[in-house]
Amino acid sequence: MSSLRLGNSLLSTTRRHLTTSRIIRPTILTKSSRLTRAAAVTFTPRYCSSSASSSGSNKDSSPSPSPSSHKDSAWRKMADDKQIPHYLKQDHDRVFDHNRAWATAQETRDPGYFAKLSEGQTPDYLWIGCSDSRIPAEQIAGLAPGEAFVHRNIANLVPNNDLNVMAVLEYAVRHLHVKHIVVCGHYGCGGVKAAMTAKDLGILNPWLRNIRDVYRLHEAELDTIEDETERYNRLVELNVVEQCRNVVKMAAVQQSYAENTYPIVHGWVFGFHDGLLKDLNVDFESMLAKIQKIYNLTD
Ligand SMILES: [Zn+2]
Repeated sequence: MSSLRLGNSLLSTTRRHLTTSRIIRPTILTKSSRLTRAAAVTFTPRYCSSSASSSGSNKDSSPSPSPSSHKDSAWRKMADDKQIPHYLKQDHDRVFDHNRAWATAQETRDPGYFAKLSEGQTPDYLWIGCSDSRIPAEQIAGLAPGEAFVHRNIANLVPNNDLNVMAVLEYAVRHLHVKHIVVCGHYGCGGVKAAMTAKDLGILNPWLRNIRDVYRLHEAELDTIEDETERYNRLVELNVVEQCRNVVKMAAVQQSYAENTYPIVHGWVFGFHDGLLKDLNVDFESMLAKIQKIYNLTD
């Protein structure tokens, strides 16, 4: 969801520029910081209230789209100064600068590295995570290129009618023979937060409805949690568990496990406040047994 927030993107990009010698318009940093905070939309359940209240109770959240008048103002200022084309070119060129430096460093550290990388992939992990720009799967898990097959979408969902995630799972299990499937959510998930907002979000509605369905499934538990932040965090966790359940429903997963005793499915949650992964300790075998009472596809 953070990709929807121009203010956030501008802020992080500007910070990167400030770490280099090629600084343009540093005043935007202050402006964007202010805008990012001002535009924050916080979770105001039980269940839905207005579309955009702001309490600041979830400081690490990545909310739904903010008022355009706020998020556009920094860009308008740069447009007035005719700085946008220059800014975008710097953004583009910086990626290639970093890529060249990375490739050189890799080959220097490990001669023949790219020749080995070209031979193919045998990752042990399939990672299904949120598209949030602050959660680079390999970096937070210490995995090198070739160790994880990665799929990311808004709020790390596994809907059975999404051809994309279904194809990724099918390929990872039947062809790459992954040993672990990780569904990794994160506290402060803007996708989960947006799903709790009484607002028409267009094409996002059918996607976010998967999360509203999770709330409905666990409504009794969630409604007993008085603290809004704790209730929101619990919904993040329950969403991960339900997506693990969706993975377990797949024929490829059930059949591979019956034949090979892998893959195992894990549910994890990442926290921005400390950078740590929390293992929800999903009981895969128990979950599989319960699922197969109705969804058994091993024959
Ligand atoms: Zn998220």
